[in-house]
Amino acid sequence: GSYFRSHVVGTETKVSLANGKHVLSINFDNAATTPPLYSVLKAILCFAPWYASVHRGKGHKSIFTSELYEQGREIVRRFVNADNDDVIIFTKSTTEAINILAYALASGDKEQVVLSTDMEHLANDMPWRDKFTIDYIALTKAGGLSLTDLETKLKRYEGKVRLVAVTGASNVTGYINPVHKIARLSHKYGARIFVDGAQWVPHASVDMKPALSVEHIDYLAFSAHKMYAPFGAGVLIGPKDTFAKAAPAYQGGGAVGLVSQQAVTWDDPPAKYEAGTPNMMGVLAMTTAIETLGRLDIADIHHYERELIDYAIDALKSVPGITLYSIQDGSEERVSLLSFSMEGLHHSQVAEILAQEAGIAVRNGLFCAHPYVEKLLGLSDDTIKYYQTHDDTSIPGLVRISFGMYNTFQEIDVFHRLLLRVAKHQTYYKRKYEYVLDPGRCN
Ligand code: PMP
Repeated sequence: GSYFRSHVVGTETKVSLANGKHVLSINFDNAATTPPLYSVLKAILCFAPWYASVHRGKGHKSIFTSELYEQGREIVRRFVNADNDDVIIFTKSTTEAINILAYALASGDKEQVVLSTDMEHLANDMPWRDKFTIDYIALTKAGGLSLTDLETKLKRYEGKVRLVAVTGASNVTGYINPVHKIARLSHKYGARIFVDGAQWVPHASVDMKPALSVEHIDYLAFSAHKMYAPFGAGVLIGPKDTFAKAAPAYQGGGAVGLVSQQAVTWDDPPAKYEAGTPNMMGVLAMTTAIETLGRLDIADIHHYERELIDYAIDALKSVPGITLYSIQDGSEERVSLLSFSMEGLHHSQVAEILAQEAGIAVRNGLFCAHPYVEKLLGLSDDTIKYYQTHDDTSIPGLVRISFGMYNTFQEIDVFHRLLLRVAKHQTYYKRKYEYVLDPGRCN
């Protein structure tokens, strides 16, 4: 833990509490965004004197910058073991990547089906809605994805399923989906699979094209800012044929061969899908983070973070009035995050108490996975409709903690002790934080 911690910026930052004391801040909100690595900042500083436009100039710096940018694709390819023929498109984020993919796959035929799931982030749900017939694979009682329902739906829509779009790991419960099994089933029925890697790639070994006995993943996307690099870079990976379609979603310089006012010829992908001046600093930051995570060993990181989350689950189980969402018997594959609620307190109050009483940053609300949280909370259609049409700040939700590789068992102890105190003196804390009216909607 302390070895991983030494690589991350901002772990020794103090914040002030409600009582005026200063304490080391504790960041349990890594699923939203992670702080950068020292290696990332250093790489940006070292590269800065050589920074110039990508694919646009004949000068030494421009050529060097362009080479570095292209090398970045190979760093990404190796990290997730993508096929040599796959196209690696640099994007702004996972959200942008999925929107680009939805556009590239859409044929105008709304009869074509995308199977999303009941546990998706809105990024892997909304972009499909207006371009395809969308259906959602249900969850089992235990909270995992139902492979039986997946097969039922693959059969029901056989011949029409363009894509099965599933998250690698849930940003609400931390579940890791059995993506290679899902891939096998999808391929059996002629459908391809897209995996939203935003919460998965930074926390576990990902292998798009493993041994022959394990089914490959067709498409993958993830974001730099959840893997210790700054905002503004992400990737979309997929087979060439997808990106051969005539026109990309974003159009402009850099994406074209030759343009007249009458006609356009397009460059080959990935350039065709990267119109505008590429985000070289963002790509350098992301690929440097990838190299550092590779060097630290992502399997070791996963193992350490698993210990952290198991420790947190045990701790939370001892706090009266806490409900943990979708924790099964502890054997499930998961990344290092979980969501909970505390009886008698609104989720925004719990988040405020953690921040004000101990400097602990968490996320509360619906985590941009509204339908999933609505289902976990058992909200009725009427209740949802009420909140959609009233500006009522008591909207239900959950509290989420999400660990990075630099978090420690001691930090979880601080969190645990505070929650025990809150459970014991609930009336006091409820009154003290009565003012909290944060609706905690998608940020
Ligand atoms: N998918 C999942 C599972 C996520 O957790 C997130 C980020 N909250 C996204 C997609 C979207 O990522 P970004 O905001 O970087 O586009």
